[in-house]
Amino acid sequence: MKIIRVRAGKERSLLRRHPWVFAGSVAGGKADAGETVRVEAEGGRFLAWAAYSPASQIRLRAWSFDEAERIDAAFFARRIGAALALRQRLGVASDGVRLIHGEADGLPGLIVDRYADVLSCQFLGAGTERWKDVIVDALVQASGCTRIYERSDSGVRGLEGLAPVKGWLRGEGATEVTIREHDWRLTLDVAEGHKTGYYLDQRDNRALLARLVARHGCRRVLNCYSYTGGFSVAALAGGAEAVTSVDSSGPALARAVQHVALNGLDAGRHTALDADVNATLRQLLKDGATFDAIVLDPPKFAPSAAHAERASRAYKDINRLALKLLAPGGLLLTFSCSGGIGAELFHKIVAGAGIDAQVDGYLLQRLEAAPDHPTTLAFPEGEYLKGLVVARMG
Ligand code: SAH
Repeated sequence: MKIIRVRAGKERSLLRRHPWVFAGSVAGGKADAGETVRVEAEGGRFLAWAAYSPASQIRLRAWSFDEAERIDAAFFARRIGAALALRQRLGVASDGVRLIHGEADGLPGLIVDRYADVLSCQFLGAGTERWKDVIVDALVQASGCTRIYERSDSGVRGLEGLAPVKGWLRGEGATEVTIREHDWRLTLDVAEGHKTGYYLDQRDNRALLARLVARHGCRRVLNCYSYTGGFSVAALAGGAEAVTSVDSSGPALARAVQHVALNGLDAGRHTALDADVNATLRQLLKDGATFDAIVLDPPKFAPSAAHAERASRAYKDINRLALKLLAPGGLLLTFSCSGGIGAELFHKIVAGAGIDAQVDGYLLQRLEAAPDHPTTLAFPEGEYLKGLVVARMG
């Protein structure tokens, strides 16, 4: 077993059970990509068992802080079993569920989403890459799913020195899957969809939109960055009369149109707009359009804190435009999934947008990812999705 020492003072985060050690904190020692190493403090005190990643700035990802624990097939079976047991207790209102949420489930660099009877996974670190076969066997055993698709084609693999990979790991067949989310049916393609195929993290916020549309009697709804129209289906189910989905992805919009029909909703009430959101918001303002509810769920503008300033301006801009487009009493559901923008900063950005738009708003609710995307006490970085429900005054 190779030993990696961390620099004096740099043991503190591991002692607090934070799972990452950056390259600059490593005092010495070397290992192969994904190899399990014993991490020690300067004086030789045991800190963690971790996966070594020679190419990454995140040089070590801790598997366990328990010196007696062995990192073997039984370890992965235990962690996966615990993660699945939590999901069962959560009683998720869908058969599309995030089963493994990386660091939060004690499996850094592993994402596993279940879509009906198919698992779609991402192996994003040298450690999970090295243990892939063992992990996949344990997933089959614990979930009962025999079809497992790999979507390790995310850009972050490059930071680990890993090439993009995509394809069936177990089983084969159609990559198109239908899931049931709340009262709706939705389709996705695990091979072609974004991330692992769909955005499960917004599940509960979609149900919230349906309730808000019904309770506030919202008639005209604008769903910006709609992807395959999850929020649009929710708005129509809530009773909206005219819903517009805006996205720059043609295939995603085509699926949004399909989803309206699949759920027996009136296609005449839905418009799909293949366009840039920012330009669309400006045009709608020029046209004098107004809406009773607007959803803003943009892609990650700030992948890390380094991009926070530019991203803040981009968030502020779309929120300013959306607030101006709201009818009095209208609702804005606005989100950021940027890890580099904290909840407090996001609140400030939206407040700034209100000032620029000269629009006053009630802050009705703060939103986050669905609970099958948990965060842990020790790893606050895991908290990436934040949202606000704002009601325009007047
Ligand atoms: N709200 C969606 C998820 C949105 S993900 C859901 O509930 O499933 C972000 C979406 O923004 C993607 O579908 C992407 O195609 C789209 N997108 C990215 N940049 C865009 C732009 N400038 N204009 C319009 N859409 C954009």
